[in-house]
Amino acid sequence: MTTSLPHLPDQDWPLMQPGWVWLCGAGPGDPGLLTLHALNALRQADVIVYDALVGEGILSWADQAEQIYAGKRGGKPSAKQRDISLRLVDLARAGKKVLRLKGGDPFVFGRGGEEAQTLVQHGVPVRIIPGISAGIGGLAYAGIPVTHRDVNQTVTFVTGHDQTGDAPSSIDWDGIARGSQMIVIYMGMKHLPQISSQLIAAGRPENEPVALVTSATTGKQHVLETTLSAAHRDANAAGLQPPAIICVGRGVLLRQALDWQSMAQGLSPRNLDPLDRGRPAESA
Ligand code: SAH
Repeated sequence: MTTSLPHLPDQDWPLMQPGWVWLCGAGPGDPGLLTLHALNALRQADVIVYDALVGEGILSWADQAEQIYAGKRGGKPSAKQRDISLRLVDLARAGKKVLRLKGGDPFVFGRGGEEAQTLVQHGVPVRIIPGISAGIGGLAYAGIPVTHRDVNQTVTFVTGHDQTGDAPSSIDWDGIARGSQMIVIYMGMKHLPQISSQLIAAGRPENEPVALVTSATTGKQHVLETTLSAAHRDANAAGLQPPAIICVGRGVLLRQALDWQSMAQGLSPRNLDPLDRGRPAESA
Protein backbone atom coordinates (compact mmCIF):
# COMPACT_ATOMS: atom_id res chain seq x y z
CA MET A 1 0.00 0.00 0.00
CA THR A 2 1.31 3.47 -0.74
CA THR A 3 0.19 6.72 0.71
CA SER A 4 1.42 10.10 -0.37
CA LEU A 5 3.68 11.66 2.21
CA PRO A 6 2.15 14.65 3.92
CA HIS A 7 4.05 17.82 3.22
CA LEU A 8 6.16 19.12 6.09
CA PRO A 9 5.84 22.83 6.71
CA ASP A 10 8.94 24.79 5.77
CA GLN A 11 11.20 25.04 8.76
CA ASP A 12 14.62 23.81 9.77
CA TRP A 13 13.94 20.20 10.65
CA PRO A 14 16.67 18.25 12.42
CA LEU A 15 18.86 16.20 10.10
CA MET A 16 19.41 12.55 10.93
CA GLN A 17 23.11 11.85 11.13
CA PRO A 18 24.73 8.50 10.30
CA GLY A 19 25.44 6.53 13.46
CA TRP A 20 22.55 8.04 15.41
CA VAL A 21 19.46 6.29 16.71
CA TRP A 22 16.24 8.25 16.94
CA LEU A 23 13.90 6.61 19.41
CA CYS A 24 10.48 7.69 18.32
CA GLY A 25 6.85 7.23 19.31
CA ALA A 26 4.43 6.44 16.51
CA GLY A 27 1.26 7.16 18.50
CA PRO A 28 -1.51 4.67 19.22
CA GLY A 29 -2.39 3.72 15.63
CA ASP A 30 -4.02 6.45 13.59
CA PRO A 31 -1.20 7.78 11.38
CA GLY A 32 -2.60 11.28 11.81
CA LEU A 33 -1.44 11.15 15.41
CA LEU A 34 2.24 11.05 14.47
CA THR A 35 4.29 14.08 15.38
CA LEU A 36 5.98 16.14 12.70
CA HIS A 37 9.33 15.10 14.14
CA ALA A 38 8.32 11.47 13.58
CA LEU A 39 7.39 12.25 9.99
CA ASN A 40 10.69 14.05 9.48
CA ALA A 41 12.48 10.97 10.78
CA LEU A 42 10.48 8.60 8.56
CA ARG A 43 11.62 10.61 5.56
CA GLN A 44 15.30 10.37 6.39
CA ALA A 45 15.93 7.00 8.01
CA ASP A 46 18.12 4.34 6.36
CA VAL A 47 16.67 1.66 8.56
CA ILE A 48 13.58 1.45 10.73
CA VAL A 49 13.28 -1.03 13.57
CA TYR A 50 9.60 -1.11 14.48
CA ASP A 51 7.28 -2.79 16.97
CA ALA A 52 4.03 -4.69 16.64
CA LEU A 53 1.86 -1.77 17.67
CA VAL A 54 3.11 0.72 15.08
CA GLY A 55 0.04 1.69 13.07
CA GLU A 56 -0.56 0.29 9.62
CA GLY A 57 0.29 2.64 6.83
CA ILE A 58 2.89 4.59 8.77
CA LEU A 59 5.78 2.56 7.36
CA SER A 60 4.61 3.17 3.81
CA TRP A 61 5.79 6.75 4.35
CA ALA A 62 9.37 5.47 4.49
CA ASP A 63 9.75 3.40 1.35
CA GLN A 64 13.44 4.32 1.12
CA ALA A 65 14.26 2.66 4.43
CA GLU A 66 15.03 -0.94 5.24
CA GLN A 67 12.30 -2.03 7.64
CA ILE A 68 13.00 -4.53 10.40
CA TYR A 69 10.22 -5.95 12.55
CA ALA A 70 11.15 -6.31 16.20
CA GLY A 71 7.75 -7.07 17.67
CA LYS A 72 7.55 -8.87 20.93
CA ARG A 73 4.70 -10.53 22.69
CA GLY A 74 4.06 -9.50 26.29
CA GLY A 75 5.54 -11.81 28.88
CA LYS A 76 8.48 -13.16 26.88
CA PRO A 77 11.85 -13.19 28.67
CA SER A 78 13.78 -9.96 28.57
CA ALA A 79 16.78 -11.50 26.71
CA LYS A 80 15.08 -10.69 23.43
CA GLN A 81 14.82 -7.06 24.47
CA ARG A 82 18.58 -6.99 24.92
CA ASP A 83 19.01 -8.45 21.42
CA ILE A 84 16.93 -5.63 19.99
CA SER A 85 18.97 -3.01 21.84
CA LEU A 86 22.24 -4.55 20.65
CA ARG A 87 20.94 -4.72 17.09
CA LEU A 88 20.34 -0.98 17.28
CA VAL A 89 23.91 -0.51 18.50
CA ASP A 90 25.22 -2.58 15.56
CA LEU A 91 23.18 -0.67 13.01
CA ALA A 92 24.36 2.65 14.39
CA ARG A 93 27.97 1.48 14.40
CA ALA A 94 27.54 0.45 10.76
CA GLY A 95 26.91 4.13 10.06
CA LYS A 96 23.16 3.89 9.46
CA LYS A 97 20.60 6.53 10.27
CA VAL A 98 18.48 4.41 12.55
CA LEU A 99 14.86 5.05 13.43
CA ARG A 100 13.58 3.00 16.32
CA LEU A 101 9.80 3.29 16.03
CA LYS A 102 7.55 2.28 18.89
CA GLY A 103 3.80 2.36 19.45
CA GLY A 104 2.48 5.24 21.52
CA ASP A 105 5.19 7.04 23.43
CA PRO A 106 8.60 5.34 23.62
CA PHE A 107 9.00 6.10 27.31
CA VAL A 108 5.55 4.91 28.40
CA PHE A 109 5.63 1.15 29.08
CA GLY A 110 7.57 0.77 25.87
CA ARG A 111 10.98 -0.10 27.30
CA GLY A 112 12.33 2.88 25.44
CA GLY A 113 14.24 3.92 28.53
CA GLU A 114 16.07 0.60 28.59
CA GLU A 115 16.93 0.79 24.90
CA ALA A 116 18.13 4.36 25.25
CA GLN A 117 20.28 3.38 28.22
CA THR A 118 21.93 0.55 26.29
CA LEU A 119 22.60 2.87 23.36
CA VAL A 120 24.11 5.53 25.57
CA GLN A 121 26.21 2.92 27.39
CA HIS A 122 27.61 1.88 24.01
CA GLY A 123 28.39 5.45 23.08
CA VAL A 124 25.63 5.70 20.46
CA PRO A 125 24.03 9.17 20.31
CA VAL A 126 20.25 9.22 20.60
CA ARG A 127 17.39 11.58 20.03
CA ILE A 128 14.06 10.96 21.74
CA ILE A 129 10.82 11.83 19.97
CA PRO A 130 7.78 11.50 22.21
CA GLY A 131 4.50 10.17 20.91
CA ILE A 132 0.86 10.17 21.93
CA SER A 133 0.38 7.37 24.40
CA ALA A 134 -2.54 4.96 24.04
CA GLY A 135 -3.63 5.69 27.60
CA ILE A 136 -4.26 9.34 26.72
CA GLY A 137 -4.94 9.49 22.98
CA GLY A 138 -6.76 6.16 22.86
CA LEU A 139 -9.13 7.29 25.57
CA ALA A 140 -9.66 10.63 23.83
CA TYR A 141 -10.77 8.73 20.72
CA ALA A 142 -13.26 6.93 22.95
CA GLY A 143 -14.58 10.25 24.25
CA ILE A 144 -13.03 9.84 27.70
CA PRO A 145 -11.03 12.78 29.05
CA VAL A 146 -8.14 11.39 31.05
CA THR A 147 -8.57 14.16 33.60
CA HIS A 148 -11.64 16.23 34.36
CA ARG A 149 -12.07 18.89 36.98
CA ASP A 150 -15.25 17.41 38.44
CA VAL A 151 -14.35 13.75 38.75
CA ASN A 152 -10.72 13.05 38.16
CA GLN A 153 -7.95 15.35 39.13
CA THR A 154 -5.61 12.43 39.60
CA VAL A 155 -4.73 9.72 37.13
CA THR A 156 -2.44 6.74 37.45
CA PHE A 157 -0.93 4.88 34.51
CA VAL A 158 -0.13 1.35 35.50
CA THR A 159 0.99 -1.84 33.80
CA GLY A 160 -1.12 -4.96 34.22
CA HIS A 161 1.75 -7.39 33.95
CA ASP A 162 5.44 -7.47 34.68
CA GLN A 163 8.45 -8.84 32.80
CA THR A 164 7.57 -12.43 33.62
CA GLY A 165 4.01 -12.04 32.37
CA ASP A 166 2.59 -12.32 35.89
CA ALA A 167 0.44 -9.69 37.53
CA PRO A 168 3.03 -7.28 38.85
CA SER A 169 3.50 -8.05 42.52
CA SER A 170 5.33 -4.83 43.28
CA ILE A 171 2.33 -2.63 42.45
CA ASP A 172 0.54 -1.13 45.42
CA TRP A 173 -3.03 -1.59 44.15
CA ASP A 174 -4.43 -0.51 47.53
CA GLY A 175 -2.54 2.75 47.32
CA ILE A 176 -3.66 3.33 43.74
CA ALA A 177 -7.27 2.48 44.62
CA ARG A 178 -7.22 5.04 47.44
CA GLY A 179 -5.21 7.78 45.78
CA SER A 180 -6.16 7.82 42.13
CA GLN A 181 -9.58 8.75 40.81
CA MET A 182 -8.80 7.54 37.29
CA ILE A 183 -6.77 4.37 36.78
CA VAL A 184 -5.48 3.66 33.28
CA ILE A 185 -4.12 0.14 32.86
CA TYR A 186 -1.86 -0.94 30.01
CA MET A 187 -1.38 -4.64 29.20
CA GLY A 188 -4.07 -5.49 31.71
CA MET A 189 -6.43 -7.90 29.93
CA LYS A 190 -4.75 -11.11 31.04
CA HIS A 191 -4.94 -10.23 34.71
CA LEU A 192 -8.18 -8.28 34.65
CA PRO A 193 -9.92 -10.57 37.20
CA GLN A 194 -7.13 -10.15 39.78
CA ILE A 195 -6.82 -6.43 39.13
CA SER A 196 -10.55 -5.78 39.54
CA SER A 197 -10.73 -7.92 42.68
CA GLN A 198 -7.81 -6.08 44.22
CA LEU A 199 -9.32 -2.70 43.44
CA ILE A 200 -12.69 -3.76 44.88
CA ALA A 201 -11.02 -5.22 47.97
CA ALA A 202 -9.28 -1.87 48.40
CA GLY A 203 -12.61 -0.07 48.47
CA ARG A 204 -13.49 0.83 44.89
CA PRO A 205 -17.22 0.28 44.21
CA GLU A 206 -18.17 -2.87 42.32
CA ASN A 207 -20.32 -0.77 40.01
CA GLU A 208 -17.59 1.77 39.26
CA PRO A 209 -17.56 2.58 35.54
CA VAL A 210 -14.90 0.88 33.44
CA ALA A 211 -14.13 1.27 29.76
CA LEU A 212 -12.12 -1.22 27.73
CA VAL A 213 -10.82 0.37 24.55
CA THR A 214 -9.30 -2.04 22.04
CA SER A 215 -7.29 -1.10 18.95
CA ALA A 216 -7.86 2.51 19.92
CA THR A 217 -7.65 5.15 17.18
CA THR A 218 -7.57 2.53 14.42
CA GLY A 219 -10.39 1.50 12.10
CA LYS A 220 -10.94 -1.49 14.42
CA GLN A 221 -11.42 0.55 17.58
CA HIS A 222 -13.96 -0.97 19.93
CA VAL A 223 -15.15 0.45 23.23
CA LEU A 224 -16.84 -1.65 25.88
CA GLU A 225 -18.46 0.18 28.78
CA THR A 226 -18.86 -1.97 31.86
CA THR A 227 -18.23 -1.97 35.61
CA LEU A 228 -15.41 -3.11 37.82
CA SER A 229 -17.09 -6.34 38.90
CA ALA A 230 -18.45 -7.19 35.42
CA ALA A 231 -15.45 -6.14 33.34
CA HIS A 232 -13.82 -9.54 32.95
CA ARG A 233 -17.07 -11.36 32.16
CA ASP A 234 -18.19 -8.69 29.68
CA ALA A 235 -14.79 -8.61 27.98
CA ASN A 236 -14.92 -12.37 27.47
CA ALA A 237 -18.50 -12.27 26.25
CA ALA A 238 -17.57 -9.58 23.72
CA GLY A 239 -14.50 -11.56 22.63
CA LEU A 240 -12.27 -8.51 23.00
CA GLN A 241 -8.86 -8.78 21.40
CA PRO A 242 -5.73 -6.91 22.50
CA PRO A 243 -4.29 -4.36 22.45
CA ALA A 244 -6.56 -2.87 25.06
CA ILE A 245 -6.51 0.03 27.46
CA ILE A 246 -8.53 -0.44 30.62
CA CYS A 247 -9.80 2.68 32.23
CA VAL A 248 -11.41 2.72 35.68
CA GLY A 249 -13.17 5.72 37.14
CA ARG A 250 -16.26 7.94 37.07
CA GLY A 251 -14.69 9.91 34.23
CA VAL A 252 -15.66 7.01 31.95
CA LEU A 253 -19.26 8.28 32.21
CA LEU A 254 -18.30 11.36 30.22
CA ARG A 255 -18.26 9.17 27.14
CA GLN A 256 -22.07 9.28 27.27
CA ALA A 257 -21.75 12.93 26.28
CA LEU A 258 -18.44 12.95 24.42
CA ASP A 259 -18.48 9.89 22.14
CA TRP A 260 -17.54 12.16 19.26
CA GLN A 261 -17.01 9.34 16.79
CA SER A 262 -20.66 8.29 17.08
CA MET A 263 -21.69 11.92 16.82
CA ALA A 264 -19.61 12.25 13.65
CA GLN A 265 -21.80 9.46 12.27
CA GLY A 266 -24.93 11.42 13.11
CA LEU A 267 -25.89 9.88 16.47
CA SER A 268 -26.93 12.17 19.31
CA PRO A 269 -25.10 12.17 22.63
CA ARG A 270 -26.73 9.69 25.01
CA ASN A 271 -26.62 11.99 28.01
CA LEU A 272 -25.59 15.65 28.12
CA ASP A 273 -25.02 15.64 31.88
CA PRO A 274 -23.60 12.18 32.67
CA LEU A 275 -22.12 13.30 35.99
CA ASP A 276 -25.53 14.53 37.14
CA ARG A 277 -24.28 17.94 38.05
CA GLY A 278 -27.47 19.60 36.85
CA ARG A 279 -25.49 22.60 35.70
CA PRO A 280 -23.54 23.66 32.66
CA ALA A 281 -20.18 21.92 32.36
CA GLU A 282 -18.28 25.18 32.43
CA SER A 283 -19.87 26.84 35.49
CA ALA A 284 -17.42 28.04 38.12
N1 SAH B 1 4.36 2.82 24.48
C1 SAH B 1 2.95 2.47 24.31
C2 SAH B 1 2.54 1.37 25.26
C3 SAH B 1 3.25 0.04 24.99
S1 SAH B 1 2.73 -1.22 26.06
C4 SAH B 1 2.10 3.73 24.52
O1 SAH B 1 2.61 4.75 25.00
O2 SAH B 1 0.92 3.69 24.18
C5 SAH B 1 1.53 -2.04 25.06
C6 SAH B 1 0.14 -1.77 25.61
O3 SAH B 1 -0.28 -0.48 25.25
C7 SAH B 1 -0.93 -2.68 25.08
O4 SAH B 1 -0.95 -3.93 25.74
C8 SAH B 1 -2.16 -1.88 25.36
O5 SAH B 1 -2.49 -1.92 26.73
C9 SAH B 1 -1.66 -0.47 25.07
N2 SAH B 1 -1.94 -0.05 23.68
C10 SAH B 1 -1.06 0.35 22.77
N3 SAH B 1 -1.67 0.71 21.63
C11 SAH B 1 -3.00 0.55 21.85
C12 SAH B 1 -4.16 0.77 21.07
N4 SAH B 1 -4.11 1.24 19.83
N5 SAH B 1 -5.36 0.48 21.64
C13 SAH B 1 -5.46 0.03 22.89
N6 SAH B 1 -4.39 -0.20 23.66
C14 SAH B 1 -3.18 0.06 23.16
